[in-house]
Amino acid sequence: MRIAVIGAGAMGGLFAARLAGSGQDVSLIDVAPAQIEAIKANGLRLTGDDGEKTYSLPIGAAERYTGAFDLLIVFTKGMHTEAAMAAARHLIGPQTLALTVQNGIGNVETIEAFIPRERIAMGMTNWPSTLVAPGHIRVPGDGQIRIWAANGVPSPGLQDLCNMLENAGLNCELDPAVEVAIWEKLAFNAALNSLAAATDLTVGEMADRQEARQIVFAILSEALAVAKARGLDVDVERTRQSVEHAFAHHRPHKPSMLQDRLAGRPMEIGTITGAVAREGLRQGVSTPVTAAFANLLSLFERKNV
Ligand code: NAD
Repeated sequence: MRIAVIGAGAMGGLFAARLAGSGQDVSLIDVAPAQIEAIKANGLRLTGDDGEKTYSLPIGAAERYTGAFDLLIVFTKGMHTEAAMAAARHLIGPQTLALTVQNGIGNVETIEAFIPRERIAMGMTNWPSTLVAPGHIRVPGDGQIRIWAANGVPSPGLQDLCNMLENAGLNCELDPAVEVAIWEKLAFNAALNSLAAATDLTVGEMADRQEARQIVFAILSEALAVAKARGLDVDVERTRQSVEHAFAHHRPHKPSMLQDRLAGRPMEIGTITGAVAREGLRQGVSTPVTAAFANLLSLFERKNV
């Protein structure tokens, strides 16, 4: 299968490396000169629990490629999905499939402007990956991917896609209730990322402060109430437990929106914090804490980026 991974950062690098390692034909698309030059010069380095491996993969801007790909895996941050898809428009043929397991919501709708919904697979992943330097990613532990058809109608192609991810060691499962998983992760991210990005607190520092816990669980409750209003059978206790698990086991971690803010990069506000507040408005569910954080973070971003 001819695959392009769009966004060759932490997660795109992981998926590309694993798929290439399982024999797939994988090309990387990115726009960051440092990332492109590092991978061209030294290959993509992946440090995992089982040591380090380097993968030699083609990389460049979308314009460097021609012809239709069989599969586009979109792994930019949410605010870059539209520009990335627009630049890759010429690589989409009548059979091209797209996969998004990016965090947040709204990516399917953005991709749908370029590829019809019946050819989009959506889902979520809890694989962890960090870009430690241009061209070098670190993957501590492992994770899973859950996917389903974005139009709700599974096809043989969806099963093939999941098998391919499974064969690459990425642990894929088909999940008709994937929207529940997406929203539980969205609630988790809206809570921990938003507060961390606004306060510079690590996960452990949030865990230790009663005021921080109150805000985290307020955002979590609002997001889950919105999900319930959408008819999703989200599990409040399970999601609270996943936050408590992060509080106990990921103490030094700086959530990605905090990392982005500190580096002066845009944050995934529109597809995470802002997305919960917007969907709350649509569903008639009040989300005062989440909406305040979405506005606050947008103000930070306007000042910093
Ligand atoms: P990242 O910042 O490491 O990588 C994103 C890459 O996209 C960068 O290399 C950037 O240069 C590139 N990019 C930006 N604009 C582009 C464009 N127009 N065209 C092509 N490439 C472009 O981000 P990440 O951590 O890999 O996250 C990607 C997505 O996966 C996000 O939605 C994130 O929330 C989600 N996610 C991340 C993790 C994690 O552990 N890192 C886990 C699960 C989900």
